[in-house]
Amino acid sequence: LDKKGAILTNFDINRDITETADVCVIGSGAGGATVAAALSEYGLDVVILEEGGYYQSREFTQKPTEMIPKLYRDAGASVIMGEPVIAFAEGRCVGGSTVINGGMCWRIPEKVLKRWKWEFGLDDFTPENMDKYYSPVEKRINVSLQSPESIGKGDLLFKKAAESLGYKVKPNTRNQKNCPGFNVCIFGCPGDCKQSMLVTYVPDAVRNGARLYADAKARVIKQKGNRVTEVHAEILDRVTMKKKHNLTVRAKVIILACGAIQTPVLMLRNRLANSSKQVGRNFFCHPNMKITAFFDEDIYYWKGVHQGFQIHEFFDEGIIMAIGGVHPAMVAMSVPFFGKQHLDFMKNYNRMVTAGSLIDDTTSGVVKPGPFDTALMFYQIDREETRRLIRSVALLCEIFFTAGAKEIYVPFRHLSFIKSIDEIKKLYQYPIKNKDFHELITVHAMGTCRMGSDPNRFVTNSWGRTYDLSNLYIADASLFPTSIGVNPQLTIMALARRCAQHIIENWHTYKNY
Ligand SMILES: Cc1cc2nc3c(=O)[nH]c(=O)nc-3n(C[C@H](O)[C@H](O)[C@H](O)COP(=O)(O)OP(=O)(O)OC[C@H]3O[C@@H](n4cnc5c(N)ncnc54)[C@H](O)[C@@H]3O)c2cc1C
Repeated sequence: LDKKGAILTNFDINRDITETADVCVIGSGAGGATVAAALSEYGLDVVILEEGGYYQSREFTQKPTEMIPKLYRDAGASVIMGEPVIAFAEGRCVGGSTVINGGMCWRIPEKVLKRWKWEFGLDDFTPENMDKYYSPVEKRINVSLQSPESIGKGDLLFKKAAESLGYKVKPNTRNQKNCPGFNVCIFGCPGDCKQSMLVTYVPDAVRNGARLYADAKARVIKQKGNRVTEVHAEILDRVTMKKKHNLTVRAKVIILACGAIQTPVLMLRNRLANSSKQVGRNFFCHPNMKITAFFDEDIYYWKGVHQGFQIHEFFDEGIIMAIGGVHPAMVAMSVPFFGKQHLDFMKNYNRMVTAGSLIDDTTSGVVKPGPFDTALMFYQIDREETRRLIRSVALLCEIFFTAGAKEIYVPFRHLSFIKSIDEIKKLYQYPIKNKDFHELITVHAMGTCRMGSDPNRFVTNSWGRTYDLSNLYIADASLFPTSIGVNPQLTIMALARRCAQHIIENWHTYKNY
């Protein structure tokens, strides 16, 4: 192989390979692609390893049964254990979760930065300093407002009703170009309108000479003294997932960007950089809940962009709400009905609108390596989160009844439908317990290798460099010392750029490794 930039998959590789590089980045999602693009732009020789396959927009058929097994880890069926269990999904493909995400982009709120400063010694994390990292990312991935034509009727109803109640509604800023509101973001954008890593920082890195190996699962990271020296990966057969070939990458710096679940698992399996005993701990996930409102008229809420607006009125209570276009197959899967009742529910698909709430964490969980190749995730929602979840359902019901909804499905075992604004109080009359939740979901894994100023309590310093190993960095959602209460991808990218800056400033040391 020559050293020109390329994306190579298991179909291109027919032998074992040994590579040398300045930097090896493991993972090609929000963190990995961003750090790889910045380092390769500086002129470093970068190799990226990505466990998932390489798929392009022409292959994005919009069909869940075809796209989910290709683009999602465990075909989208991961579960976080606790009462109730929380359904969890993350990407496993070139571009990582950014290929399948909803495209919402928000900077970290100032109150979270203050907390990071006071509690974790992250003194440099002021809004002004962070602007240096956010701005170039926002420009590259084109964080912008949707055109009015791309907003659907459901979103407009939702906004109007919330505003009539005096609630603060914000238009969503999304990483998109000319998005007409296909509303199939979670199966891969068929028009490359979503400016995911697949169409931005991954091609940038490759243009700068980086080699990206898809279908390449990093398994072993060799350590010598206080340094890491090489990564041993397996090139996987795309169909059987069995090893086809070995790939070894020797690098002066190794960056973990496998996401907040797989990064700690890889570290724990390799016994890396855990003198603080915090690897895998402090796992945050923004538990989400969704409801379905039924109107008399057709809304066709799947026409129009996913989440045109968000309600931020209750942000200080740890609640953000939005409507979201959920594919009929997924609505059908998530409701606890059978036979005729299920059919009657789904027959009304054109008249329904689903909406959800993102709850900021007030507790945390743990991530560990499991049997075979699995990751075990534990998270027990606490009383405050339960209160917030129920309150968010009450607020969503209020908004939808104000918008004219006739009936609302709510996901509790003993209470499935609320039929009027007066009935909202039913949510509080019967004490809803954890086991009564029918469905909790999340797609925001954060924490697990928290950064901070004290080597005894934190895994990395504020730049993402592990305290124990001088050339091992982390550049993904694992770094967050707390949850952030808003969609995380933009902050992950900003932190990855910050990490790249530190490596570049210290390259004079690393180049002799
Ligand atoms: C359905 C969905 C919707 C979402 N919507 C939004 C949204 O609208 N806005 C927002 O801000 N966030 C959203 N998110 C979350 C956001 O996409 C993630 O927080 C973000 O992408 C995480 O970045 P990361 O770099 O930590 O990990 P990822 O982007 O998940 O990338 C990690 C990559 O590492 C690879 N990897 C893991 N282990 C290995 C290994 N051992 N060897 C090689 N490669 C490995 C994985 O295959 C993956 O591709 C959504 C997520 C999902 C799943």
